[in-house]
Amino acid sequence: MATVFIAVSTCKTRKRGAALRAAPRSLLLTMKPYQNIPITECGEPLVAIAAEIITIDPHPYISLGAPYGDRSPFFVRQGILERLQKSQTYLQTLCPNYQITIFDAYRPIPVQQFMVDYSFAQLAESKGLEINALSEAQKNSLIAEVIKFWAIPSHDPKTPPPHSTGAAIDVTFYRDHHKGVVPVNMGSPIDEISDRSLPNYFANSTNKQELEFHRDRQLLNQVMTHSGFVRHPNEWWHFSYGDQLWAWISKEKLAIYGGSK
Ligand SMILES: [Zn+2]
Repeated sequence: MATVFIAVSTCKTRKRGAALRAAPRSLLLTMKPYQNIPITECGEPLVAIAAEIITIDPHPYISLGAPYGDRSPFFVRQGILERLQKSQTYLQTLCPNYQITIFDAYRPIPVQQFMVDYSFAQLAESKGLEINALSEAQKNSLIAEVIKFWAIPSHDPKTPPPHSTGAAIDVTFYRDHHKGVVPVNMGSPIDEISDRSLPNYFANSTNKQELEFHRDRQLLNQVMTHSGFVRHPNEWWHFSYGDQLWAWISKEKLAIYGGSK
């Protein structure tokens, strides 16, 4: 598997288990609209992402201690890998010095739980809030922000988290550089809980660099949708094909990829 190396901070405090246990049940039962879509599982296997596709190493969630066990984040369904390869080939015709790079793909449900809890703790910390002294209103507000970006770690086969299906991928660009391949600045880091994550956040900027961020986000969307993927409405980096979110956005009646273990 082709890999590139990036520095990932692992010094952040881990405060696990706080988020979902702290959240009122009513908030957690809030269904996203796509979760009502029925799934007819097609049965394709999860496969390792092919060597010619760049994957970020060390993987950011593994670096944080996420519980993968013997699983790898760099697995997808067979059909997703084929679409990814088609997008990469198309990208080469448009922008030969760019490469699609996988930040994250398959996510076991315990990892989804870990990352939701971690994001909750990070968000509280970023707002200067002490996690053990939150009021109910503060907990609700934090959880509402977190679940805008992170799916609930549901074990219900009717509502799998998108990344647990092997059909959702978080991607960015790397580009050729005389020092090797380097990340393209897309205007905000993957997983940031803020409006900058919205795909068109920089669309109306008058700043030259911000317009480049927008152009690169559009290019990413163009090459991914070329092979059938759809983009998450709130996240410039998240794409999927065949899961419930894809069906909802594409106005399909059925999803074809359910939770995968
Ligand atoms: Zn994602």
